[in-house]
Amino acid sequence: MVYQYILAGIIAYYSLVFVFVLYSSASKKKAKVSEINNGCFNNNNISESEIGKNICPQETSENIDIIIVGAGVAGAALAYTLGKDGRQVHVIERDLSEPDRIVGELLQPGGYLKLIELDLEDCVDEIDAQKVFGYALYKDGKNTKLSYPLKKFNVDVSGRSFHNGRFIQRMRDKASSLQNVKLEQGTVTSLIEENGIIKGVYYKTKNGQELTTKAPLTIVCDGCFSNLRRSLCNSKVEVPSHFVGLVLENCNLPYANHGHVILGDPSLILFYPISSTEIRCLVDVSGQKLPSLGNGDMTHYLKTVVVPQVPEELQCSFVEAIDKGNIRSMPNRSMAACPYPKPGALLMGDAFNMRHPLTGGGMTVALSDIVLLRDLLRPLHHLHHASALCKYLESFYTLRKPVASTINTLAGALYKVFCASSDPDNKEMRQACFDYLSLGGVFSDGPMALLSGCIRYHFPHCQG
Ligand SMILES: Cc1cc2nc3c(=O)[nH]c(=O)nc-3n(C[C@H](O)[C@H](O)[C@H](O)COP(=O)(O)OP(=O)(O)OC[C@H]3O[C@@H](n4cnc5c(N)ncnc54)[C@H](O)[C@@H]3O)c2cc1C
Repeated sequence: MVYQYILAGIIAYYSLVFVFVLYSSASKKKAKVSEINNGCFNNNNISESEIGKNICPQETSENIDIIIVGAGVAGAALAYTLGKDGRQVHVIERDLSEPDRIVGELLQPGGYLKLIELDLEDCVDEIDAQKVFGYALYKDGKNTKLSYPLKKFNVDVSGRSFHNGRFIQRMRDKASSLQNVKLEQGTVTSLIEENGIIKGVYYKTKNGQELTTKAPLTIVCDGCFSNLRRSLCNSKVEVPSHFVGLVLENCNLPYANHGHVILGDPSLILFYPISSTEIRCLVDVSGQKLPSLGNGDMTHYLKTVVVPQVPEELQCSFVEAIDKGNIRSMPNRSMAACPYPKPGALLMGDAFNMRHPLTGGGMTVALSDIVLLRDLLRPLHHLHHASALCKYLESFYTLRKPVASTINTLAGALYKVFCASSDPDNKEMRQACFDYLSLGGVFSDGPMALLSGCIRYHFPHCQG
């Protein structure tokens, strides 16, 4: 029982930190907005018109305002958003064919709300996406259903799960339907840097041609394996575990339209629908090394250790999926955001910030960051003064904290608490967490609202 109080204390603590950060960010944002409206900035007395003036003339290719590297979740959404705001956008994506991956398949309701803000919510239509209303949590033969607290939202607001590639293609199509967005297949090899300012990129086209393109702002969205981030930040990437992915067919989840989290030993196991006929399973394998797929160790591990812990209704399909052999894996990376990029460049999406994917928060953070960046860039007519722009965008790193830090902190904390451990204190904490959430109602609503990115605090002086 005492652990339930500890857990309640932890959740209350994070909630208070969250409120504090939101409060101070909101005040700064309001001040900044009024500075923009008055035409001058506090930061170094840089006026909006100065940012707009071509003080340091830069070569631009075809009058491009913004180069975006990568058209995954972040890059594609950003291209549409900035294109819709009238920017000339050049997107360079390594592979424009539909991605086939085991990442980014469950969008939290908070992410769906961001899609609405970006006018991209139709990108989850016509891809057989499934609505998600919450999670079912399993431990030692017991289970509990945890619903997202969505009552105050429009009936359409819920999580969505889908094939990641289908979702991305929809966003790419929408972006490239804008005539001021040029979406080109090519691999960016490095950034063009002159006197400490990023001026554009070197890239190789589909046909092997080596080209450069220049713009006042380059936004790097090249994902979790980013090659370019090292020239913009030195954040440390950690890999606490891998997800091993399978697709189950011909079966139904015990709780329809819910993600399922099995607090197994030693692995956490996730299930969620990715279409009306397929269920994704992700098995967390901690540490740097995975059992080998080639010599059959992985199959053996899945069949002997994981299968007995899978809910009975899913076991046959799970074994069928193993026998089919389409077993894939991805490293689960986490990386704190680095708030000081070089003038002329920004990092977004996983290239900028990562957290353990247990809580499916990555796309929500990326989309939330895009909404913020869009709002900050909107009043600026030109982006040519790289240093001033860089300074002006410093507020982005504060404003993003209420959503990003909450989701990141919760992902890390829940992963630590939910992982099996031989330590008796950790075992008790895991049990206490399960028992606490099983109480339902207000006990699960708070954590679920934080996890889903749906929490909203209203202050009289806070916009939105
Ligand atoms: C196993 C796993 C499961 C996950 N599950 C979820 C989930 O359920 N829900 C959720 O919200 N998040 C999830 N995430 C996180 C989520 O996938 C990411 O947060 C999200 O995809 C980030 O989008 P992005 O655009 O930054 O990267 P990506 O979507 O990976 O896009 C990067 C793009 O850049 C392109 N690119 C790379 N290098 C270059 C180059 N040099 N030149 C040109 N183009 C380049 C790539 O081809 C790619 O299209 C998961 C992550 C993992 C690892």
